[in-house]
Amino acid sequence: MIDTVRTIAALRDRVAERRQAGARIGFVPTMGALHEGHLSLVAAALAQCDAVVVSIFVNPTQFGPGEDFEAYPRDESADLEKLEQAGAQLVYLPAVDEMYPENATTVVNVSGITEGLCGGARPTHFQGVTTVVTKLLMQVLPDAAFFGEKDYQQLQTIRRMVRDLDIPVEIIGVPTVREADGLALSSRNLYLSADERREALSLPATLQAVAAKLRQAQGEPAAAHLDWGRAQLLQGGFDSVDYLELRDAETLAVLEGWEGQPARLLAAARIGKTRLIDNIAIG
Ligand code: AMP
Repeated sequence: MIDTVRTIAALRDRVAERRQAGARIGFVPTMGALHEGHLSLVAAALAQCDAVVVSIFVNPTQFGPGEDFEAYPRDESADLEKLEQAGAQLVYLPAVDEMYPENATTVVNVSGITEGLCGGARPTHFQGVTTVVTKLLMQVLPDAAFFGEKDYQQLQTIRRMVRDLDIPVEIIGVPTVREADGLALSSRNLYLSADERREALSLPATLQAVAAKLRQAQGEPAAAHLDWGRAQLLQGGFDSVDYLELRDAETLAVLEGWEGQPARLLAAARIGKTRLIDNIAIG
């Protein structure tokens, strides 16, 4: 069976043993309900590191009131089997009270880059993410940590945080893994009914279509194309659109049009009780 630990002390012991043996340590934080997207992070970590630590922790502080913390899918034994097959060495499964001792009052807050996009609809989300990721990085002390481009605002926020706080870890972004039909893999896809699953395809399709229009209209205002994309999502079966925006690929500053620079088209939309996000590169 794959090696598992549930306490910070046991985690530190196991990682220290590997480090003393000279291993470069890779770390993949997850919330479980693992799919091929998560496993691609593990594969990227195994390709660059000698030992890979995966955490599974459904972090309560990154869910807002009324969000899906309780309903979030959990399947520890299936996750452990997938990680063993993928070749990860150690799985860290802290309980909530191991992660957050009573009277914990310190948080990590990254301003600017966390405002707007997902931070608009989920105002407390990124503070929960940056606080738990800082704690996880301090607990594991990896050489490199791997995050998916699927959560692009999260990836750029963590890059910024690690730079601003001088946290000695390399942050590595991994491309989004998609189903054959284009839908980005997500643990939340499990919430979709068969009809919603079909309609959800309009998210990647719309991103591709808007990206093509923006590339053709290089140097022109993007607003009309973004409006068209929002309408496409609603027509495709989404009930509401949180955002569809063109942003600078690094700073996430709003772009009024694509001028040929590295840019990202990002969207979040709701279908039934499910909120889906996706993004693609332009340029
Ligand atoms: P989560 O379990 O949703 O918190 O995700 C854990 C990590 O897996 C994050 O770095 C995500 O960006 C990444 N991830 C989730 N879905 C995908 C995907 N489809 N492709 C690549 N990485 C992903």
